[in-house]
Formats: sequence, C-alpha cells, structure tokens
Amino acid sequence: MWSLLSLLACRPVAPVAPAPLVVEEVVAPRWPEVGTLLRPPVIEVPAGFTPREVFIVAGHGAPGNVGNLGSTCVREQDFTLRAADRLARMLDATGQFVARRARSGAARPSYAARLARIEASAAVAVIELHSDARGWANAPTGVTDAGEVCWKADHEPGFTVLVRDRGPDALVAARLGLARQLARALAGAGFAPWAGDYGDAYEADEVPGVWRDRRRLFMLDRPSVPSVIIETHNAWDLQEARRWEEGRTHDVFGRSVVAALIGWLGEQG
Ligand SMILES: [Zn+2]
Repeated sequence: MWSLLSLLACRPVAPVAPAPLVVEEVVAPRWPEVGTLLRPPVIEVPAGFTPREVFIVAGHGAPGNVGNLGSTCVREQDFTLRAADRLARMLDATGQFVARRARSGAARPSYAARLARIEASAAVAVIELHSDARGWANAPTGVTDAGEVCWKADHEPGFTVLVRDRGPDALVAARLGLARQLARALAGAGFAPWAGDYGDAYEADEVPGVWRDRRRLFMLDRPSVPSVIIETHNAWDLQEARRWEEGRTHDVFGRSVVAALIGWLGEQG
C-alpha cells in the first residue's frame, strides 16, 4: 500500500531558483561614532633612553581669553585644563618624561608668562592642547548657568596638529618632525585627522592632520624649543565632544603622545 508520504517522496521536485541574495552595504563605524574603538599604541622605550622634560600647555585660560563654548556647554579653557592635567600625569607616570605645566588650577598666566617659564626650563618640547570649533553651528544643545546658548555643528570631527614652518632650519625641521610623529600616532590609534580646509589660516602638510601655521601664532613661533598645538577634536561636534568625556579617550591620546615623543626623540639623535 502506498502511503501518501511515499507518493509525495517519489514525486519529482521541480528545482527552485535560489532567491537573490541581498547584501546590505556594510559601513564600518568611523570615529567619533559610538562603537569605534581606539587602539593604544605599543610603547617601546629604547635602551639608554634618558628622561626628558616636556612642557604641557592648557590652551586659553589667560586674561580675556576663555576659548570656545562647546556643544556640551564646556568652555574650552576648562576642557584644556583637564586634558593637559591628564596628559601631564601620564607623562610623569611613564618615568621617561617630566611634565612641566604652563597653567594649573585657578591660575591664569598670560602667554608671555608661559613663554618665560618655558624658556627658563629644560623642556625639549612644548605641546599645547586646544579644542577646535569648526563648521556652521546651527542647532542649540543647551544653556550654560550664565545663560549662554551652546550650539553644535556635526560632520566635521577630527584632530589637527598645528606647526610653524618658518624660522631657523633646524628648529623648523624638529617642529615638523614632532608634529608628524604626533599626527601619525593619533591616526594610528584611531583618532581621525580632520580633512577640511582652514582657508588662509593653515596650510595642509603632506601628513594628514598636520597643518602649517600661516597666522604666526605666538606659541608656535616664539619658543626656542619645538612647539606644536594639538586641536584634539571639534568641540562643536556633539558626538566627538562626548567621546572626549571618556577616560579611555584621554588614556589612548596620552599613550599616543608618549609614543610620538619617544619616536621623535629617537629621530633627533
Ligand atoms: Zn583654542
């Protein structure tokens, strides 16, 4: 007796064309999106490395000079002070660097006073921290206690390293070397070099993220030791500003600076 099941089993089965495979385009998250991981560099200290002094400058915080107001309602002078303190602590913790600070606590030294302290020190380099304010800020994000409206301008995240390429040849070469080491280390760690246009203010270098100063900024032009400014991020980019509230961001940033300094000092011979 044929069972229904066996009849069904014996019927030839028409081949079924496979359904077309639809693959959505996969776009990897990019800094500063949530989910992008920063990768701290491996820091290798060469044998015989001698500890060096480095001057860390928290940008702004001078009389009449408070800096930008970011999308998280943080004033730039306050951000730079925290970022500089964390960076200085990390440099000190390596045992390979002694961090000198140009501004700490509630002090508001002028830039001339900062320069005088730098010149009186044994520092081999100056790194000044800032946050940028780029783009067309057109969406309010909050109000400060003082009643100021905070704005955001997303879509232009990223760091830049500013450097002066005019001056004595050896000093210019050392400045450029430091700026490029820093930009490469930061990009290698997962921070994004900003690829926009500063207009007449800065000219793009061959290394992404490095910009040559055309404004003759005081702290890029005046110190007798190599100096750079790192615009750590765009404070008007809300997502990026929030990433800079994470301890890990500061940690990887600091490690990148340490790796860059060691690489640059190795180049100096
Ligand atoms: Zn600034």
